[in-house]
Amino acid sequence: MKVEENLQKIQENIEMACRRSNRHPDDVTIIAVTKYVTIERAQEAVEAGVVHLGENRDEGLLAKWDALRDKPTWHYIGTLQSRKVKNIIDKVDYIHSLDRISLAEEINKRAEKVTNCFVQVNVSGEESKQGLSPDEVSEFVLSLSKYDKIRICGLMTMAPFTEDEMVLRTCFRKLNELQSKIKNLKLKYAPCAELSMGMSNDYAIAIEEGATMVRIGTALVGEEGVGG
Ligand SMILES: *Cc1c(COP(=O)(O)O)cnc(C)c1O
Repeated sequence: MKVEENLQKIQENIEMACRRSNRHPDDVTIIAVTKYVTIERAQEAVEAGVVHLGENRDEGLLAKWDALRDKPTWHYIGTLQSRKVKNIIDKVDYIHSLDRISLAEEINKRAEKVTNCFVQVNVSGEESKQGLSPDEVSEFVLSLSKYDKIRICGLMTMAPFTEDEMVLRTCFRKLNELQSKIKNLKLKYAPCAELSMGMSNDYAIAIEEGATMVRIGTALVGEEGVGG
């Protein structure tokens, strides 16, 4: 499938999810997750009109960044080791995986300008998942005030891998409630207006529950081996 066709289908689904939840499609941003695909396929996504690209490894990000430079807006969406921060920090516009003070420290040290960060939350409590537990988030955000290069733009989560709609919905709803709580702290460095949640299998539900950024790989650009 061409990215263009996938994109059109996804946009239709987003419009329907927005209609069901009384939201406006302009308030939902699609991030094309290109981690499984070639540079050419990422290029095709940009030509099809995708503005935001996401990668989860520094090598992948750098390879695609070299080819596409500042055409797209870049998102780093995966586990980020502190020692890798210096490789990506001047290339990315958003980091979706801030989950510890030592990482905040490193981002603050390496960044030349203010970096938009999402605090990653492990809402479902699965052991395999990265992120803070929900009850740690407020204190964590409060403790970031001394880092002048960090702006907390929102919260991010990965839902459990399940088809159970109620489980997914509950997970997204909890992140939404937590986001309101952080937003209401009215911290200058933490406007926390965004919710990064929803992937290929669950983005429609995530949008119904308030997602403002959906991270879509497989359904948009395909999986490994898809070259265009
Ligand atoms: C891979 C990945 C995605 C996209 O997953 P798909 O199911 O292919 O849409 C989204 N978010 C994160 C953090 C990922 O690692």
